[in-house]
Amino acid sequence: MKLPPFEYACPTSVSEAVALLASHDGEAKPLAGGQSLVPMMAFRVASPALIVDLRKLAELRQIKITDDGVALGAMVRWRDILDDTRLRTAHPLLVAAIGHVAHYQIRNRGTVGGSMAHADPAAEMPGIAVACEAKIAVVGKSGSRVIDAGDFFEGPLMTALKADEIITEIRLPAWPAKRRFGFQEFARRRGDFAMAAAALFYDEDGGTARNAHVGAIGVADTPLRLPAVEQVLNGNAIDDGIVAKAEAAASASVDPADDIHASGAYRKALIGVMVERALKSAAT
Ligand SMILES: Cc1cc2nc3c(=O)[nH]c(=O)nc-3n(C[C@H](O)[C@H](O)[C@H](O)COP(=O)(O)OP(=O)(O)OC[C@H]3O[C@@H](n4cnc5c(N)ncnc54)[C@H](O)[C@@H]3O)c2cc1C
Repeated sequence: MKLPPFEYACPTSVSEAVALLASHDGEAKPLAGGQSLVPMMAFRVASPALIVDLRKLAELRQIKITDDGVALGAMVRWRDILDDTRLRTAHPLLVAAIGHVAHYQIRNRGTVGGSMAHADPAAEMPGIAVACEAKIAVVGKSGSRVIDAGDFFEGPLMTALKADEIITEIRLPAWPAKRRFGFQEFARRRGDFAMAAAALFYDEDGGTARNAHVGAIGVADTPLRLPAVEQVLNGNAIDDGIVAKAEAAASASVDPADDIHASGAYRKALIGVMVERALKSAAT
């Protein structure tokens, strides 16, 4: 299907991009890799009057690793994450999750910022952001602000972003070297969106878990943290009994709707299994 007509701009600075978005009163949209926006336009789900192409904003393409953690520029692509060998130690959970995103061609164009703004509840990056308590740096006509990932996602394809705001960076807190983690996803085919996925980590103190963070993807309107599961893990050695309790707590924490891909009951059971497998892989 052909795209609806639109104007096109390719700014060379973030401030110019923001000014262009602000000038169109909600009728302009940033373009990252086009992997969601272009199909949405083809299907007439989106018809922006102006496309603001971010491809010349080199400052949004950086991956910074410091003592504070990992900062991913909004235009960093999945391919860049998988190719950056530093991330395998600086944030192995991120790398494990992004390995499940889509297919080769899409990983060459799809971006971190585009995925966050698109806010698909089954997408990996939003799930990692919520599980890891990421901060989302954005800039708009009234200046810059930082949004907690937990407050960013408001529903399927809905976020706290204003129409004139651009995501500039996603900041993941520092990752201690000995942290244990697991990422498990079930999809019908490798590269499809997740039917359900679990992203989790914990630190160890004398053989027991502390600081457990457990995220769930694909089982609600937004990515979730599962505090009831974290409670099961914290203060305990992760043995078979605790894993079984965590699995049950994960299933009990969610209430997914039926859809064309699976019943809610199936996804409820599946997230328990994903948590169980992620905990077992974290322990090895
Ligand atoms: C066949 C297929 C399979 C896929 N499978 C998966 C999968 O398994 N897992 C997964 O996570 N994703 C998957 N995707 C999505 C893909 O990985 C892209 O991340 C996602 O489509 C966003 O694409 P993009 O970065 O090109 O953004 P675009 O399509 O360019 O933009 C998407 C939205 O974000 C807005 N936007 C873009 N950048 C910014 C910014 N910096 N600030 C504010 N708003 C911005 C745009 O205006 C638009 O609304 C799949 C896509 C396809 C086509």
